Amino acid sequence: FAPWKDPNAKPYIQFENVTKKFGDFTAVNNLSLTIFEREFFALLGASGCGKSTLLRMLAGFEEPTAGRILLDGQDLRGIPPYRRPVNMMFQSYALFPHMTVENNIAFGLKQEGMAKPDIEKRVTDMLKLVKLEQFAKRKPHQLSGGQRQRVALARSVAKRPKVLLLDEPLGALDKKLREETQFELMDLQQELGLTFVVVTHDQEEAMTMADRIAIMDKGEVMQVATPAEVYEAPASRFVAHFVGNVNMFEGKVAEQSANTTRITGPSGAQIVVENGGAAAKANADIVFAIRPEKIRVSSKKPADAVNALEGEVYDIAYLGDMTVYHVRLDDGQIIRASALNAVRVTEDPLTWNDRAWVSFRPDAGVVLAR
Ligand code: ATP
Repeated sequence: FAPWKDPNAKPYIQFENVTKKFGDFTAVNNLSLTIFEREFFALLGASGCGKSTLLRMLAGFEEPTAGRILLDGQDLRGIPPYRRPVNMMFQSYALFPHMTVENNIAFGLKQEGMAKPDIEKRVTDMLKLVKLEQFAKRKPHQLSGGQRQRVALARSVAKRPKVLLLDEPLGALDKKLREETQFELMDLQQELGLTFVVVTHDQEEAMTMADRIAIMDKGEVMQVATPAEVYEAPASRFVAHFVGNVNMFEGKVAEQSANTTRITGPSGAQIVVENGGAAAKANADIVFAIRPEKIRVSSKKPADAVNALEGEVYDIAYLGDMTVYHVRLDDGQIIRASALNAVRVTEDPLTWNDRAWVSFRPDAGVVLAR
């Protein structure tokens, strides 16, 4: 499933040069973005970056100050929220406390004037979908947080919207339940064949669930890509930092040939990079970004290493599935390197304050503009 790679795929949701101002404040700045049908799309960014505003404009709670939003080719301007084929689920799911689960789910359908037998059938389907058949007669306060969340979900898809918008949908759940629910949401989206747009500030959540992620900052989109691309090929320093752990080496491009870049760090250390990309221009001030798991730590300089820097083990954290090393390089920079414990047992038994080498392959990181 990768409609964004298909030049003939029809865009489903289109933000075209959308700006939203609140007084003098620009919450969304000339933003363009395309989402495809049946995509699970995540808007990821820090608090205040404008992601909720974007969602609210799609739902019709706010109108853009400039630009337009199209859904399946139709300009949504002026269409009230209840006439858009879009439903929104909020973090505070606001179930009606005095109503049973089934009545909560049926509420919107009754309002729409759906016939009673159809409502019953739909509610039964929805209860089954979220695996709450036995809880139909309970009231929200008789449910766990995770169950309440599923009622809210059932209620928001009961009317069969084409697009479901989820604003921090799992924010109220604890970590374990949140992780389980992420997979449930993915299954549900597949089963219903809907387009999901989820807003989150949690990068792991976005990475787990989404087909593609838009990373936002100050009302603008910094990068739109699959989770793997965002992680492996971040387009900027901001994105590299925002998603996952990363080491950054500031330096200057000392030599640039066809597909090899040689970088000189502030203390003279040399790094060789293959396929440096657009930022790798002769004499450019750049940062070299490399993920911790791409770095190997060893007590001896590996014979075959193209890039090897020497330092001292500063910290070791055992995390169960992996071990994280902090190595202080001789120029003072602290490097984070991680190794899966399943493979680490074959490496040296490094310990605190040992001399150590960090090494990495020339294709292990990316060159980014400073
Ligand atoms: P969070 O994760 O904290 O919800 P967000 O990225 O979703 O953040 P938005 O809710 O979209 O951010 O808000 C973006 C900016 O616009 C914020 O600085 C916010 O204060 C401002 N803003 C949002 N709604 C309004 C409003 N109705 N009036 C004035 N400013 C607003």
